Amino acid sequence: MQTPNFIAEPAGQVPVVSKSDVLVVGGGPAGISAAAAAARNGLSVTLVERYPYLGGLASGGMVLVLDDMSNGNEISVRGICTELIDRMTRMGLCITPPREDWVSDEAIFRQWARWGVYDFHSHLKPQPICYASAFDPDGFKNASNALVLESGVSLRLHSWFSKVLVEDGVIKGVICDSKAGRQALLAEIVIDTTGDLDVGAAAGVAHTKGSFIITTVFRLGAVDTAAADRFEYEDPAAFAVLDREAKRIMGGSWERWWLKTPIPGTVWCNCPHMPGFDGLSVEDLTAADFKGRERIAQLVAFVREKMPGFENANVVDVAPQVGVRQSRLLQGQYVMTKDDVSRRQHFSDSVARGRDYYYPYRSMLSNEVSNLLVAGRHYSATPSAQKVSREIPPCMAMGEAAGVAAAVALESQKSLASIDVRLLQKRLREQGADPGDQPADNATVNLEAAQ
Ligand SMILES: Cc1cc2nc3c(=O)[nH]c(=O)nc-3n(C[C@H](O)[C@H](O)[C@H](O)COP(=O)(O)OP(=O)(O)OC[C@H]3O[C@@H](n4cnc5c(N)ncnc54)[C@H](O)[C@@H]3O)c2cc1C
Repeated sequence: MQTPNFIAEPAGQVPVVSKSDVLVVGGGPAGISAAAAAARNGLSVTLVERYPYLGGLASGGMVLVLDDMSNGNEISVRGICTELIDRMTRMGLCITPPREDWVSDEAIFRQWARWGVYDFHSHLKPQPICYASAFDPDGFKNASNALVLESGVSLRLHSWFSKVLVEDGVIKGVICDSKAGRQALLAEIVIDTTGDLDVGAAAGVAHTKGSFIITTVFRLGAVDTAAADRFEYEDPAAFAVLDREAKRIMGGSWERWWLKTPIPGTVWCNCPHMPGFDGLSVEDLTAADFKGRERIAQLVAFVREKMPGFENANVVDVAPQVGVRQSRLLQGQYVMTKDDVSRRQHFSDSVARGRDYYYPYRSMLSNEVSNLLVAGRHYSATPSAQKVSREIPPCMAMGEAAGVAAAVALESQKSLASIDVRLLQKRLREQGADPGDQPADNATVNLEAAQ
């Protein structure tokens, strides 16, 4: 008998396990912020996450530097992101350079560069140290747990979103797969923070598919970072040769392929960079993990033999989540362009900021579904704009704005698209966030383009 290409799913009954004002799908940086913000604003909130922990790429992807949160010496991302930094700092699991070190200076650069806390976009030499934080992935999980539980969010881990229930352009709820079978969750407003627009795409919103390098991040332990530092600065020519070879083995990495973490002797490696994989394909994600591990094994053998400081290095862990930077992107009520980001375009409906750029509220709204908000790396942008506006802190700021927007909409009994954005901005500011309603001196303020 020939194998069929498709099979029909039998209809069945799915138990309703939750009904809340807001349902947040995806417990990464954007999702935890959205859920906590909505709950703090008086809403009943359910947060579902497929994996057994919160944090998304910041914990399971082991992306361990919070950056894009300062505009020169001005802090541009505040609110829940700052709160999370404070929580991890109190645990001794987050390192942030003090304000007096936010300068371009050789000695200070040497002290901080291997923490990854400098301004990558600056043309100054050396690049200035800036407000950025190096943190521990388990610290991020624990701080996120405390944040959502203290905010009164109902958290459901181990719940994989699989189907959306839409009627006449309104999402009634979603279905998640779980060990206990399929479960339905209903809500007035749904916030998609899956990073891959899983809910929005299933609901039929317009989107585009982008792609970028994929990375299997890993950590090495037993590294003598002081010896590695001495070698780099005291024998730069020999260092350059070995560093180049390490990067060749990796097949691609940023300038510094290893960075320090709050755990002495443990470094994280934001590599290897691997182009050509589709972040939504089961086959590609499987292959990326294997290919990454192969290169990691080769690198470890090389550095143990050749690189001062790495003689005893070993793999502590390879990130459980393959590092997908970009997949589906919403094409919503406003689509951010690379120009908007690079010329620091200000929008009168700005509700979140990144480094020096602004996110209009419209970039979190679709044209098709009236009760859906989209926050995080799949927000409405062109692929080239998203590449330079997808860091963890701005995703948290977007999430926070989405959570408060849901509260403003339900309180005022208005649709998400017709809420008073000034009120949303005011509420965000009162709650400690910076919605970007007040453009910085270096912003492009062009009233026609801005709305
Ligand atoms: C290798 C790499 C290096 C990076 N380097 C940096 C850096 O140095 N600094 C920085 O600030 N940013 C960096 N980034 C970017 C940053 O990590 C992401 O853009 C950011 O984490 C996006 O947050 P998010 O909440 O939108 O999405 P994610 O972090 O992807 O979180 C999405 C969450 O949704 C969950 N989810 C997805 N689908 C489902 C489903 N169907 N059902 C239930 N749950 C689901 C996921 O498990 C996850 O928890 C890097 C990214 C990568 C991949």
